[in-house]
Amino acid sequence: MNHNAVRLDDNLCLVTDEVRCVHCDTRVGTRTDWLARALFVERPVEQAQVRVPAPPQLFVDAPTAFRQALCPTCLTALLTEVVAIADAGSRSKRIEVNEP
Ligand SMILES: [Zn+2]
Repeated sequence: MNHNAVRLDDNLCLVTDEVRCVHCDTRVGTRTDWLARALFVERPVEQAQVRVPAPPQLFVDAPTAFRQALCPTCLTALLTEVVAIADAGSRSKRIEVNEP
């Protein structure tokens, strides 16, 4: 990892205005769109690696999916969420770095 990098979580760091994978140093996004270059994969919620006690249709009217954003180089999962399929803007992380 670059010595100027600010660690964002277990998998991502910020180097100037670029968000990079800490495992392979691939640029995956920017400050304003931190997953711009990530690969997105959607699967049925039932394929999530967690126990889903009941079909999501019992609780949510909208069709749902198990969505992952992956590093395009090493395929590390950068974001994992269960969302309404139509909701493309539900990324729950915002980058705010307090400059000295
Ligand atoms: Zn990577």
